[in-house]
Amino acid sequence: MNSNSHPIADVLLPLALEGPYSYRIPEGMTLEEGCYVAVPLGPRTLIGVVWVLKAQAPEGTKLRDVIARFDMPAMGETHRKFVDWLADYYVEPKGNVLRMVLRCPGAFEEAKGQVAYRATGQQIRRMTPQRQRVLDVASEGFAMRQSELAKAAGVGTSVVKSMAKEGALEVVALPAHKAFQPPDLNAGGLTLSKQQQLAAHELRAVVTTRSAKVMLFDGVTGSGKTEVYFEAMAAALAAGGQVLLLLPEIALTAGFITRVETRFACEPAQWHSDLRPRERERVWRGVASGEARIVVGARSALFLPWKKLGLIVVDEEHESAYKQDDGVTYHARDMAVLYGAIGKFPVILSSATPSLESIVNADRGRYGHVKLNDRHGRPELPEIDLVDMRKTPLESGAWLSAPLIENITATLAAGDQALLFLNRRGYAPVTVCRACGHRMDCPNCAASLVEHRFRRQLMCHHCGHHEPTPKACPQCGVEDKLVPCGPGIERLAEEAVQRFPEARLAILSSDLARGVFLRDVIRDVTKGEYNLVIGTQLVAKGHHFPFLTFVGVVDADLALESSDPRGGERTWALMAQVAGRAGRGEKPGHALVQTHVPEHPLMQALKNGDREGYLAQEKLIRENAGLPPYGRLAAVIIAGSDAAETERFVRLVARAAPTGEGVTILGPATAPIHIVRGRFRWRFLVKAPREVNIQAFLRQWLKDIKPKGSIHLGIDVDPYNFL
Ligand code: ADP
Ligand code: ZN
Repeated sequence: MNSNSHPIADVLLPLALEGPYSYRIPEGMTLEEGCYVAVPLGPRTLIGVVWVLKAQAPEGTKLRDVIARFDMPAMGETHRKFVDWLADYYVEPKGNVLRMVLRCPGAFEEAKGQVAYRATGQQIRRMTPQRQRVLDVASEGFAMRQSELAKAAGVGTSVVKSMAKEGALEVVALPAHKAFQPPDLNAGGLTLSKQQQLAAHELRAVVTTRSAKVMLFDGVTGSGKTEVYFEAMAAALAAGGQVLLLLPEIALTAGFITRVETRFACEPAQWHSDLRPRERERVWRGVASGEARIVVGARSALFLPWKKLGLIVVDEEHESAYKQDDGVTYHARDMAVLYGAIGKFPVILSSATPSLESIVNADRGRYGHVKLNDRHGRPELPEIDLVDMRKTPLESGAWLSAPLIENITATLAAGDQALLFLNRRGYAPVTVCRACGHRMDCPNCAASLVEHRFRRQLMCHHCGHHEPTPKACPQCGVEDKLVPCGPGIERLAEEAVQRFPEARLAILSSDLARGVFLRDVIRDVTKGEYNLVIGTQLVAKGHHFPFLTFVGVVDADLALESSDPRGGERTWALMAQVAGRAGRGEKPGHALVQTHVPEHPLMQALKNGDREGYLAQEKLIRENAGLPPYGRLAAVIIAGSDAAETERFVRLVARAAPTGEGVTILGPATAPIHIVRGRFRWRFLVKAPREVNIQAFLRQWLKDIKPKGSIHLGIDVDPYNFL
């Protein structure tokens, strides 16, 4: 549709608005649906997208004019539908969803003739802390635009301007964006095994027949799934489409990118939270123009303005990291499936431990199911044994049982590598005073502070509050009586050093090892330069450690004990993934799992390598409880900084609740962590049968509810976080 016959543009703006606003298209301007435009709103100018063109404005309204149209490819109809549907599914204002698409303001700045600043090294006459910060940032070597530099240094643009005037910064022209190389589809493919060939054939077929089918690609860790879905990607690229490979943020490692690069002889575009602004812009524009053919990205890559998406691969589809909990809540795997349905292209969900949701969809025939049973060159998962911790006493202050110690000793003696896994950061989860019993809690949250001994800090994992570990108890004032309770990864490392003084020890935890350092350690573990690795869930994912033959799980019960309905599923996935790190090289692997509930069906299934048994059990539990995927869940979360005011509001919301056929509202209840960052939190949980439109129910319930003051009301459809 063109604007000649339709002089009114309904423009969606990236604000918390339910729908677009109408503007008049000025004489001489031509717009199509999907164009990016600048429009006035009050005193501001905003970037928006033309959602609909209309012949007539509503009667009696005085419209303002569209200011300008941006010279870039329009947002496709599929993408606009995606925004509409996502907003609808998550009961979210459309404008908030659009904001996620437009989260790259630099892409709208004029590309030609841009200037940037670089440090000259010339002495500056009057130095201030602000100017020093600008110099520090500018000396990193990258030329940055004025606004970018000012933002990175936390100063106003006038500081940058005045420094340029005095000669401390010089102006350089920004080079044009580096072009995207086209992929070479036949570049670096490995010779696939028979099994891999069969799987590749099935996955390629859905691509070449332009089927909009979802394929669950299910194969144990190390079975070579990546090489296989690369073939499906090649087919989609051959058909002229763009390809999105989604990974959990944590798996976006240099090693993985190199594999994509080797396979397609071109550097894929990357999209994640750490990209520099200029690179964000390059990728955003490249995706919009269609030049970026392969994008490897974290969940938010779904919102890039795709020109012609032809395939999405969701690797590690079971990962809860695909669920975004802040701002617009969405599950990237589910939205990838939705996108495929709208865009009529296939979606591949790959995992060694698929989510129950995906398994049930495959059982029902809604998804195709491709399996890869052989570990490449090795027939099965490592052998897993349980250590019954009720019968295996630990020395006080120690967390490793005798069988674990024996196995590590033997592994190290054989010249192999061992891994100890504990999914808990820091030194100890709780600190108490032995004199008065006082527990060190966060001042802002209803949670205990976690000791981080390397940093000599007590830290809150919910709000980031930290304080030096005090010498005296803040309650009774007695000195040197604060004691750690329970193990964290640092405390485990202490025990390991004591027991295995000869071991070359590496600790892999997100807060000990950051960025470059972490990559180096992982590389050296891969090379076998360490022989004892202690890690949190960071080590469980994706890495390929060929020398690793033994895995010890220190506490398998952590996730099982939580109130999370997916606790069992998480435990299974984590245990299988961790155990799957062992025996990926020449020698077979072995895993020992410390648990207090060895008779638990899940533990038994783990020991017997009986995935079907575990799944049958898990399906039964969920089905009986009406939990996903057999029923629907949504959470309504209310938080406010005044306890009484928040509670009054919660009561008001509770009274407004409609009765719906088969719908149950649980709560209001204070959230398990009922204070976070000084805000009081309440939850409702809505449970409904699958056939109920839970979104309509929520809309009906909350349509007249208007949170005021500090109070915030959030809706979480398909919640994954129950804290
Ligand atoms: P998964 O993704 O299923 O865990 P990967 O694709 O990472 O498995 O494969 C595991 C290892 O086996 C990798 O090092 C990979 O390079 C190797 N591999 C997979 N398929 C082949 C093949 N056909 N020939 C040689 N090596 C392969
Ligand atoms: Zn806190």
